Amino acid sequence: MAGVEQDVQGGALQAEPAVAANGASAAMAEAPLASAGSADIAVENPATGEIVASVPDLDATAVAQMAARGRAAQPDWDALGFDGRARVMRRAQKWLMDNADRVVETIVSETGKTHEDAQFAEISYAANAFGFWAKHAKGYLDDQRVKSSQILVKGKKLLLRYRPLGLVGVIGPWNYPLTNSFGDCIPALMAGNSVILKPSEVTPLTSLLMAEGLRECGLPEHVYQVATGRGATGAAMIEQVDMVMFTGSTRTGRKVAEEAARRLIPCSLELGGKDPMIVLSDADLERAANLAVYYSMQNAGQTCISIERVYVEAPIYEEFVSMVTEKVRALRVGEPKGPGSVDVGAITFPPQIDTIAEHVADATGKGAKVTVGGHRLEGQRGRFFEPTVLSGVDHTMKVMTEETFGPTLPIMKVSDAEEAVRLANESPYGLGASVFTRDAARGEQLAKRIHAGATNVNDALINYTALELPMGGAKASGLGSRHGAGGIRKYCDQQAIVITSHLAFKREIHMFPYRARTTRMLQRLFKVMYGRGRRD
Ligand code: NAD
Repeated sequence: MAGVEQDVQGGALQAEPAVAANGASAAMAEAPLASAGSADIAVENPATGEIVASVPDLDATAVAQMAARGRAAQPDWDALGFDGRARVMRRAQKWLMDNADRVVETIVSETGKTHEDAQFAEISYAANAFGFWAKHAKGYLDDQRVKSSQILVKGKKLLLRYRPLGLVGVIGPWNYPLTNSFGDCIPALMAGNSVILKPSEVTPLTSLLMAEGLRECGLPEHVYQVATGRGATGAAMIEQVDMVMFTGSTRTGRKVAEEAARRLIPCSLELGGKDPMIVLSDADLERAANLAVYYSMQNAGQTCISIERVYVEAPIYEEFVSMVTEKVRALRVGEPKGPGSVDVGAITFPPQIDTIAEHVADATGKGAKVTVGGHRLEGQRGRFFEPTVLSGVDHTMKVMTEETFGPTLPIMKVSDAEEAVRLANESPYGLGASVFTRDAARGEQLAKRIHAGATNVNDALINYTALELPMGGAKASGLGSRHGAGGIRKYCDQQAIVITSHLAFKREIHMFPYRARTTRMLQRLFKVMYGRGRRD
């Protein structure tokens, strides 16, 4: 396994044979094996079935020790200021570019995704994010002078300050080990926090490799630590941190929110989706078909904002289905053996392939037609599902209402845009959406009527790359958002500071002793200030 054979502070993450020898490199450099918990977790390459490494399943004691070290390291990290922290992030950006092949191989080895999916949606995201937060953190978080219309604070200095929360816990899913696990650590770190990342037990290796990279770039020890383990490790981490940033399923997200509520710490949740695409009769069909295929099959459909269902106006339905079917038929699926070797990679999480097969079977059982694909790919060492297009679908079928998270594209005929918008909104989820039409103004209007965190017109998913825009889910797709000002301010407390000059009056007019004359005067003043509103 290229990419994760590394020696870090006495911990060596071995490739083969599966290990745990000295444990999982960086994580274990931070947490002694003695308290690492009872069992190790084997990491499988889903494209080959090989076990490529193993990492410790950390217990609550190990996590508590990590938290103590993270807290101790945080004040000095914060004291470096924005410029000092930005220097480390810019070095990390360069490190990522210098080590891109190694990071790609690590991602591919634990997810089974193609080299292109690792390159375009992970490396490029993280590289951009290092630079973005290095550049913008100060602007988003620097002390702000605030003006107030309140007469009682006239002449005083009002400041809004963002103070790092201290220790942030990030919990990640398996589908994007760099973008969706490590990626959220970057703004949390730039805000001046220490971070513990609990990556998915299915894909922990990339997070560990990034610990090695950050250390090489001069990140002080224990400011970024990786707590490998299963759900219990994540739960133990929530007990320790000052804020939790969670990305994963809606089911687990609810549990995380409950635990955060019990501890009264903030949480930010990026959860599941069932993103709709609407294709109107006047759309550029070639572009719509190409984007439908790419954004439903890219990363083998294992993207929270994948196109998961399509609504097409009746006059163009047959043509659209046949265009998409032919394009999907041309996709090459199988073990990624280097750039350009396949288009669609493996199904990363073992139970996911059963969900995909179940959704397809449920749909065909209720009358849907598979126009291409429809089965697990047999005769391979790894875990693959054929890129699949379904027509004749409706909302009685799971493939149109539940998150499938696989290379499937169900396409439903609708009579008009109104029906499409109604059906797009008929979902517990509200993550992303897209509308295709040559009428940009109409597209924009329809976009505003879709209850989703992000909607693209004549595009899909691309909003995610614009880190200036907030990205978060509506409804059961999440709470809060990443990116933009809110994507870093959430890692801080807000503190209001009011500074009154030492030359101020010895006693202010509203204070004791209360006198009828002063009260009447203030009453008249309030009437002048607030009593002139129109009565409509
Ligand atoms: P999951 O909810 O099963 O697991 C996510 C993480 O939570 C893992 O690290 C897991 O170990 C941990 N965990 C499990 N139980 C826990 C508990 N009780 N307390 C704390 N942590 C616990 O999700 P998954 O299967 O890894 O990821 C796939 C899901 O993630 C999909 O639903 C997908 O849509 C979603 N996702 C959302 C986004 C987004 O930005 N909205 C991005 C990527 C993935």
